[in-house]
Amino acid sequence: MQENVLIKPTLQPYQELEEKVWQKAICAGCRGCIAVCLADTLAYDYELNKPCEVNPCIECKACLDACPRLPANVERMVSSDVIGPYLDIKNVRSEKANERFQNGGAVIALLTAALEEELVDCALVMGLDRWTQKSYPHVVYDTFKLNKSAGSKYTSNAVLESIKELVKDPKVKNIALVGTPCTVQSVGLLRKSSNEYAVKLVQKVRFLIGLFCFEAFSDNVIPGITKRIGVSPWRIDKMSAGEGQMTVTLRDQSIKSIPLAELDEYVKPGCRACTDFTAKLSDISVGGVGSAPGMSSVITRTPEGMGLFNIAEEMGLLKVSDGVNVEAIKKVGGQKIRRNRIANELAISQQR
Ligand SMILES: Cc1cc2nc3c(=O)[nH]c(=O)nc-3n(C[C@H](O)[C@H](O)[C@H](O)COP(=O)(O)OP(=O)(O)OC[C@H]3O[C@@H](n4cnc5c(N)ncnc54)[C@H](O)[C@@H]3O)c2cc1C
Repeated sequence: MQENVLIKPTLQPYQELEEKVWQKAICAGCRGCIAVCLADTLAYDYELNKPCEVNPCIECKACLDACPRLPANVERMVSSDVIGPYLDIKNVRSEKANERFQNGGAVIALLTAALEEELVDCALVMGLDRWTQKSYPHVVYDTFKLNKSAGSKYTSNAVLESIKELVKDPKVKNIALVGTPCTVQSVGLLRKSSNEYAVKLVQKVRFLIGLFCFEAFSDNVIPGITKRIGVSPWRIDKMSAGEGQMTVTLRDQSIKSIPLAELDEYVKPGCRACTDFTAKLSDISVGGVGSAPGMSSVITRTPEGMGLFNIAEEMGLLKVSDGVNVEAIKKVGGQKIRRNRIANELAISQQR
């Protein structure tokens, strides 16, 4: 007599992501899976804050290579080393003034060099609607628009949303891309993938610039903040997260502070499974920790990143010095690893 054998149906690639990542609420929201899908199978569901299937899947599996939260990919990246591979670490300040710079304006200076020297055709950054304080992926082709994009956008990491259309433009040959560690991980994974769609998507990314990141917030942090400080969103000039506080500078230059612990409920759930503080798969990483106020800590990791850094310095765009407090970076990165490792390991074990 034949035995009844239960055959588990094979999951389509996006169903694997659904089961192992989206349903576990550990999706980083980086949109790498959506960007790499040539069949437009996936779209982002803003209500549920996760990707969803909207078209038939062609089973190319490129989305699996893009996900920084799948166990196989996590295992390739996870490590207790906060700084990651590097060639040099420097204190940097932009030689040009811009009151919107988040720290030393290093990112804008590097992107200025890349655009002015025509090393790239455009930069993919995050813009900000200053009326609502909502951020959005923004492609900039000139330094005027680039300078307007300065400053950290704490509410979104959706920069990859724009890359899919951008790479289809035959006039665009080279791109500089800025992202938080999850975005950088996704692009970094795709750079190592041999999937033809993955290769097509990221081969135009000449420079991958990572931002240090402890955590990001969902959009509803904005009403959460404005309610607490009693102002309308359009009165906010700049926000800065650090040392346990969200410091909000208003247009009249008055300053309000909110303990970050009070904003904990708005931290994106997927950030709890991230153990990368310094965007270790980037060409260059930039953060504020480790440098004096008004300066950036810049970690150059690859020959490409070093080349861009040197060009920006030679063009007189960067003032560079030694003395980054690497221990301070390790301390904050270590806190992130300790806080998130449990969620990270739990998520991985549940995926097996
Ligand atoms: C969510 C988040 C959390 C962070 N947490 C920390 C932290 O804990 N410790 C720390 O030292 N640094 C942190 N940073 C990095 C820091 O705030 C600065 O972004 C970094 O030091 C660069 O400063 P800068 O003056 O060189 O950047 P600028 O010269 O002002 O340029 C910043 C560039 O990055 C782009 N950008 C801003 N936000 C995003 C985003 N979300 N995705 C893609 N591009 C973006 C801007 O459009 C602009 O082009 C965080 C950044 C973000 C976005």
